[in-house]
Amino acid sequence: MGGPTILAPMADPRSREGARYGTPEVVAWLDGLHARHDTPLSEAFEADTRHGLPSIQVAPSEGALLGLMARLTGAKRAVEVGTLAGYSAIHLARGMGEGGRLWTLENDPKHAEVARANLAAAQLDAQVEVRLGDATDSLTALEAHAPFDLVFLDADKGRYDRYAAWAFANLREGGVLLADNVYFFGRLLDEEDPDAAAMRRFHTEVAGRFASTVIPTPDGLLLGLKTPAKTP
Ligand code: SAH
Ligand code: MG
Repeated sequence: MGGPTILAPMADPRSREGARYGTPEVVAWLDGLHARHDTPLSEAFEADTRHGLPSIQVAPSEGALLGLMARLTGAKRAVEVGTLAGYSAIHLARGMGEGGRLWTLENDPKHAEVARANLAAAQLDAQVEVRLGDATDSLTALEAHAPFDLVFLDADKGRYDRYAAWAFANLREGGVLLADNVYFFGRLLDEEDPDAAAMRRFHTEVAGRFASTVIPTPDGLLLGLKTPAKTP
C-alpha cells in the first residue's frame, strides 16, 4: 500500500518506563484550567501555611479526580481514612452531591478541628462527618452504616492492608476503592521497611479481590472495583 511511514507521537518507550512529562509548569497550567480552586478549596489546600498543618494533601488534579470518581460512580455513601484539613473531603462530598454522605476519619484533634471549619465554610457540614479517633476503631463503628459505595484511603500506610480488607467487607458490589500513595513514596519494594511490606500486602490483597489498577499519579493512586466478575 505504501502508506505514510511517519507515525504521530503516541505513548513512547520513555513514558512506558516511567518518564514524566508533567513538569511543574505544565501541571500548574493544566490545574488552572481543570482543577481551579474556589475559596473553600483554596483555604483547605492552604491549611499548611494558614494553620501549620503538614503539606500532605492530594494534588489539585488528584482532588478533582476523586470528585469525578464520586460523580461517575453515583456514590452516595463514602468513607475517607485520613482527613487532614478536609481538602479531599470537599472534593468527594461535592462529587457526591447533596444526597451524599461522607464519613472522614482523623486521629489528630487539630487536623479534625481545622477540617470541620473548612467543611462548614464549604457548607458541607451536613453531608460530611469528621470522626476523631484512631481509624481502626472508627471503621469498626462505621460498619453499622455499611455497605458503602466508595472508600478512599489516605492515612497511615502501614495499615493499608487492613484498611483494604475492611473496604472489601464493607463496600457494596460495584463499590469503589481508591488509595493514595500506593508507590509508598518510592519505597514500595524496600525489603527492610515493615510499612513497605504492609503496602505490598495491600496490593496483593486488592489485586486478588478487586478489579484494579494503579493510576500513575506521582505517588500512585489505586483504583479498585468490587465485582464478582473480577477479570485478570
Ligand atoms: N486526604 C487528605 C490528606 C490526609 S493526610 C487530603 O488529601 O486532603 C493523612 C491524615 O491521616 C493526617 O491528617 C493524619 O493525622 C491522619 N492519620 C494518620 N494515621 C491515622 C489513623 N490511624 N487514624 C486516623 N487518622 C490518621
Ligand atoms: Mg496522600
